[in-house]
Amino acid sequence: RRLYGLTGVVWSKYLDIDERGRLIVKLKGYKIDIAKLVSDKQLPGAHIRILPIIRYMMDQVYEAFMEAFRKFGYKGAFKPVYPLKSNSTPIVVDTIWRYGIKYSWGFNAGTYPEVKLISKYINEKPRLLVVDGIKDNKLLDLLSKMCDSWEIIVDIESMRDADLLSKYQDLNIGLRVKVTSKSSGLWSHSSGLDSKFGLLINTLDEMVEKHPWVPNRTVLLHVHAGSQITDKNRLEDIIRETIILYNNLVKTGFKNIRYIDFGGGLAYPYIEASNHVFSANYSLNEYAEILVKELVKSAENTPDIVFEGGRYIVAPHRITVTKIIDTRPYSTSDRGETSYPIVEEIKNTENIKELVYVSRKAREVITRLMLKFPINIESRRILEKLLTSINEAITSKAYEIIHRDNDKALEELIKTPNYVLEELVSPTRRFFASFSLFSHLPDTIIADQYFKIIPLQRLNEKPEVLGVISDLTCDSMGEYSSFITFLPNNIEYETEDLFTSLDHKLMFIPGKTLRLKGVPLHIPRKNEDYYIAFLDTGAYQDMLSMNHNLLNGYPEIIIDIINDNLKIIYENLESAENYPL
Ligand code: PLP
Repeated sequence: RRLYGLTGVVWSKYLDIDERGRLIVKLKGYKIDIAKLVSDKQLPGAHIRILPIIRYMMDQVYEAFMEAFRKFGYKGAFKPVYPLKSNSTPIVVDTIWRYGIKYSWGFNAGTYPEVKLISKYINEKPRLLVVDGIKDNKLLDLLSKMCDSWEIIVDIESMRDADLLSKYQDLNIGLRVKVTSKSSGLWSHSSGLDSKFGLLINTLDEMVEKHPWVPNRTVLLHVHAGSQITDKNRLEDIIRETIILYNNLVKTGFKNIRYIDFGGGLAYPYIEASNHVFSANYSLNEYAEILVKELVKSAENTPDIVFEGGRYIVAPHRITVTKIIDTRPYSTSDRGETSYPIVEEIKNTENIKELVYVSRKAREVITRLMLKFPINIESRRILEKLLTSINEAITSKAYEIIHRDNDKALEELIKTPNYVLEELVSPTRRFFASFSLFSHLPDTIIADQYFKIIPLQRLNEKPEVLGVISDLTCDSMGEYSSFITFLPNNIEYETEDLFTSLDHKLMFIPGKTLRLKGVPLHIPRKNEDYYIAFLDTGAYQDMLSMNHNLLNGYPEIIIDIINDNLKIIYENLESAENYPL
């Protein structure tokens, strides 16, 4: 049994559905019912951290680069460093530290507290630490103390950095430069000449004049073109530009550069569909191959590759589970009626654009009527019902048209404007979950980031409604419905069908980014504990967490396998008190 969207690198290996229709995490022969972990302790929800997934991702990355090195006969070394900003929760850092011994996985830090956090490991096996960001003497003093045992490289990004570093001759230098090639995806503003960080090459001459030691002490060339780079062609441009820069720097006196650090950017498959604009059009292996191939083809020497991906390593290790505590009609009532003439008219409309036009007009007229005439409660009830009926009718008619002939339907969809398609799917229920989007999934608010949602039970039952998930904050932004998964009413339920229907078709139209609303869910039964899970919440969400309405913190369930034994630890249980049950 396969679930749509759960086919990729991680979830096809770790998730399953048991015979009772419950979502199971598979770990070394153990089958863990994650909703039960939460309900056993009567929790409103929890962040479930699955530590073996972090190790698995580290293995995958290392292996991908080793394979690329073998394929292209590359003789440089692979030097992974974990950027602490991706998630500096102590248990996460510790997992990477410990497992990283075998790969000598180092770290990347951008602030004093991050360096302090990692400095506790200073007496253990030495690693590489790349430090960027804004520096001061306090930070450099600390690094200076650490550099006896660790290999520390501090980026120069401005004259101020060079001035500061002139007093710390024991520290190696990295040159973090801006790339002009533009990246792609939600974080593409980190690239280009107007990006926040990095040195402009045209300031280098002046710097070298003032600080002639800079070329000799520089051992690393550093770029970072933004997190989650989605487009392979853009990635290739960035790599090529960096290698050209490297060659030129080596030629002009920077002879000791032995590392190229391409930064982060390796995209994690939040959506596993290669043609969607939010998902990457390359795999991990392709990423490694692009880097290594370009170096083999164009680099003057054989620099070691520093890999700074963090998102890819930690995103899947955290699953956020939350309990549904109430459901309400989304806009009007749950179910419409089919006997209205307008519903008949919609049924007889054959063109998607017209369909949306007819229904929009009808909605407009109904709203005007309600404003114009002082209608009584009973009439208002009927009109609200009518609006629901219209929404239902266009969704099912659109489904019928789109599935009639696949090729023709796709052609028509490509031609249809986004705003029209977005009106085809409309949720009917609002699900209140005992959590805060601001605290637990801040990127949904900050960056419109997608996270996969999945119910944890009744996965062998046909979902009944399209839902929008609302949080507890008194803020209308605390609603999430964007990872659309729509189940039409008129098909026999199969697990695979749950995520492969109208919305799926609409979502993955080549070249289109649609914000469709609705997650297929069941209506919780009386006294049923109904949980949903957001997957892949392990990167950045911990760190960006907001305190809106004083809802912050959530119980944590840490799952690990130690010496082949399953270990489950509950933490931060006291935070449960802040959430309704
Ligand atoms: N390196 C630097 C300098 C960064 O700023 C970031 C994050 O933006 C990363 C690495 C991590 O990149 P990613 O989120 O793609 O893993």
